[in-house]
Amino acid sequence: MPLSLEGPRILLRRLRQVMADGGEGQVRLDRTVELIATSMNAAVCSVYLKRGEDAFELCATEGLNPEAVHSTVLRLGEGLVGDVAQHKRPLNLADAPSHPRFAPRPETGEDPFKSFVGVPILRGGDVTGVLVVQNFTQRSFVDEEVEALQTVAMVLSEMLAASGEERADANISPEAAQHFTGLGLTDGIAMGHVVLHEPRVEVTKLISDNTEEELERLDSAIYNLRRNVDKLLATEDVSHAGEHLAVLETYRMFANDRGWLRRIQDAVGSGLTAEAAVERVNNQMRARLGNHRDAYLRDRMHDFEDLSNRLLRVLTGRAELASEDKLPRDAILVARTMGPADLLDYDRGKIRGLVLEEGALGGHVTIVARALNIPLVGDLRGIVSPARDGQEIIVDADQGEVHLNPMGDIIDAYSNRARLQARRLKRYARIKHLPAVTRDGTRIQLDMNAGLMVDVENLGESGAENIGLFRTELQFMVAARMPRQGEQQAEYERILKAVGDRDVVFRTLDIGGDKVLPYLRTRQEENPAMGWRAMRMALDRPGLVRHQIRALLKAAGERRLSVMFPMLTTVEEFEQSYDLLMHENQRLQGFGHKVPSQLRVGAMLEVPALVWQLDRLLPKLDFLSVGTNDLMQFFFASDRGNPMVSARYDLLSLPSLRLLSHVREICDKHDVPVSICGELGGQPLEAMTLMGLGYRGFSLSSASVGPVKRMIRSVNMNRLDLAVSGALDAPEDDLRQQLMGIADGQGVKL
Ligand code: PEP
Ligand code: MG
Repeated sequence: MPLSLEGPRILLRRLRQVMADGGEGQVRLDRTVELIATSMNAAVCSVYLKRGEDAFELCATEGLNPEAVHSTVLRLGEGLVGDVAQHKRPLNLADAPSHPRFAPRPETGEDPFKSFVGVPILRGGDVTGVLVVQNFTQRSFVDEEVEALQTVAMVLSEMLAASGEERADANISPEAAQHFTGLGLTDGIAMGHVVLHEPRVEVTKLISDNTEEELERLDSAIYNLRRNVDKLLATEDVSHAGEHLAVLETYRMFANDRGWLRRIQDAVGSGLTAEAAVERVNNQMRARLGNHRDAYLRDRMHDFEDLSNRLLRVLTGRAELASEDKLPRDAILVARTMGPADLLDYDRGKIRGLVLEEGALGGHVTIVARALNIPLVGDLRGIVSPARDGQEIIVDADQGEVHLNPMGDIIDAYSNRARLQARRLKRYARIKHLPAVTRDGTRIQLDMNAGLMVDVENLGESGAENIGLFRTELQFMVAARMPRQGEQQAEYERILKAVGDRDVVFRTLDIGGDKVLPYLRTRQEENPAMGWRAMRMALDRPGLVRHQIRALLKAAGERRLSVMFPMLTTVEEFEQSYDLLMHENQRLQGFGHKVPSQLRVGAMLEVPALVWQLDRLLPKLDFLSVGTNDLMQFFFASDRGNPMVSARYDLLSLPSLRLLSHVREICDKHDVPVSICGELGGQPLEAMTLMGLGYRGFSLSSASVGPVKRMIRSVNMNRLDLAVSGALDAPEDDLRQQLMGIADGQGVKL
């Protein structure tokens, strides 16, 4: 018997009746499959629902053996049903038994059926079930029939969710406690209330009363959406927009995408409301692209989702974004992804934490969150769906954990930790104006690392003296396009103005490696960390760094200016970099510009080969800054960004400490100031050890300044010197333990 479609609209209307009639879940499910089978003239209609992690249970059928209901179970990938669930896409077969995955279950009595269509029942991009129709004859279903079945599956998904018939964990009530594990991308813990970055619009009315009216509503919403995006683009402040602008441009492109619009119109044509049609197309796209391994496609998927959500807001008359003053004072932002500019748009005083479904260590939003000291946990698949505005949430970026609707004992435990943390912060705040001097009067230069204006604003609060490392590439990384020389100059002027008479050491662009500029095309490299990066790139193509140097010199005017060059491997590379700087300085002078009253030039020690050229290099320098993050990754051949190896080798071990001790000795010999600007100096025990090796200068992330200053103020330098050199001369098996013992014995506050 050929399968005929009675018209999806009529079917949907009947389904609505089934929903409205109420009744027990199983009864409604039975009536639904019966209705679909009759309307579609099919011999069989069955619904399989997800149970547990990867099992699909036959929950209702018209046409198969009723005994098999609640007894037949297929695993993900098993049989045709498992195949539909695994690939999240429809399967349309004229001759099902010839499909390699065909695995008939004798108890169902499905032997005589030849044709098969299965479509996934999707919710939030996850498969929660599979809807199947089967017939005796061997023939393919036409596309319209498959489309109609997908529409029915969507309505079914809503119906199941509303009745609680879905698997228990797919329909968790908004009050249930949930625990997620992801990646801690910054440090700290935060407790507060969920603020969805892009509040989701719940579609409640699925089936339309009047298709023509729905199509008109859709047309006018699309028109308004395009106008909104154009307006945003026209008013966006380009100098500060950063990624925002790129995203908006992508939105404009998508908002005019005919294919997308046509698919939504088709879904309205099949009987859905405009809102449900947008959701339906979005669901399909999410199923297709959401798990894609290609990061670019996944990003495009997010762009489409954001755009769909905007369209839903226009349709429901909620086009305005939640106003800022509605933000609670303890907001924890929850988002699928977020650009750095989006984060900067929020009121910093109210943002306690950030939770992302995506997000990686090197991501731009991570850089900004770290600069703002916001605890951030990323890589949390599926957290956006269950999250609701106003829910209680705890973000533990130290452990990479998030608790949604936490239970009382979890709240108590974290409250204790938060109290301890607050007490510690208060202790640091009390000493922020005090000098970094040891008990026996040795002065330690304690500076701060920064990379964005928002970091610079932390300088006063941190208790650091100067900015010992300003990572200039961050301004480039958060921008949508290459900042012009004038924009760079304006940024440097703002920074210098903000620090007043304190110093800033500007490091020239360190791009390449994991620091990627999306708008700068470079060749794919096998090994980017050791590739064409930083000064290697700058010296081969000096245009970029020349503009930067001009911007720095002009911004400084007559002030003292400190510049250092990253990732140098040879003395010659330093000489060339130095010549570039001096050439630009003279050139500006020649044009009658003011030039810095003093130009301090330094080098970063990040490549081990440079250690054995220091005798030649140091006489040319005003200072040396040891970038232990890179130096140690090359020294131990252990990728700093790869969690499988990054923590494998203890930096408080003999090889690294001997290397650093050697570096300090040569610097002393040449009377050149040396400081540590890598993360190594940010841990009190490590910093104490480095002081024991003779280091007297550190530049640290703002959060590390307090703990390290507290340690410094508790040290007796003479005793420490002796003890640390003694430990290096007679190391025990566990050097870290030995150093810890020294700290303990001398009452050093770690
Ligand atoms: C370093 O490598 O130690 C350093 C400070 O530079 P970055 O972390 O920016 O590579
Ligand atoms: Mg480095």
